[in-house]
Amino acid sequence: MDVYGPDAPAPTMTTRCTTPACGSFIHPTENRGLSLREAAALQTFPHDYRWHGNYQSVERQIGNAVPVWMAEALGSAIIRLLSEEKRMIRANDLEAAATLTRQRMQAVGRRDTAAELALRRRLHARGYRYRVDASLPMIPRRRADLLFPRRRVAVFVDGCFWHSCAEHGSVPVANQEWWVRKLTKIQERDRDTESRLLASGWRYLRVWEHEDMDAATLRVVQLLSECGP
Ligand SMILES: [Zn+2]
Repeated sequence: MDVYGPDAPAPTMTTRCTTPACGSFIHPTENRGLSLREAAALQTFPHDYRWHGNYQSVERQIGNAVPVWMAEALGSAIIRLLSEEKRMIRANDLEAAATLTRQRMQAVGRRDTAAELALRRRLHARGYRYRVDASLPMIPRRRADLLFPRRRVAVFVDGCFWHSCAEHGSVPVANQEWWVRKLTKIQERDRDTESRLLASGWRYLRVWEHEDMDAATLRVVQLLSECGP
């Protein structure tokens, strides 16, 4: 039960999950907080799970835990994607397998999204406004991660794997030839996008997901200042 609203769904477990004064949980019918075992049960730990450490440590472990059932659901989704992917590679449906690989990488890491968010936060804090994941007006089916339409500037935040970063890019060992073609095609498309942007009077900037985002922000700000107030 959530102490802030008895009939509302309780928020996520906290590290002080058995301490009513600090957390949001009390026993639904008795006048007391939850026991450690009850808190662990809400986090879907098995009843015979053995904890180590003192009371506060165990309370913290429970509060910080990813619920066991949620972790199981995530794990089995990844296993399903992996076996689906292997089946497609065997069936030579490599395009579909690549789509699955991408989904899996995004589900597990979402690193380029993290880099994008970091860049967006910094630009937003400096007062810049932009369109996110916007289609490029002059190039069908191509998008930019950030678009500044009035200044005619497109910014791309490139993932190290998909855009073959010199430091972190790699080619998967399985189906290597196919991957080389695939990754080369992405690079060619990037270069094509760039030349078409320039030909239409636009400017662009590419940021690697591994870059220091403060430095990357300064590069974007510099370009924007050259392209209008
Ligand atoms: Zn990189």
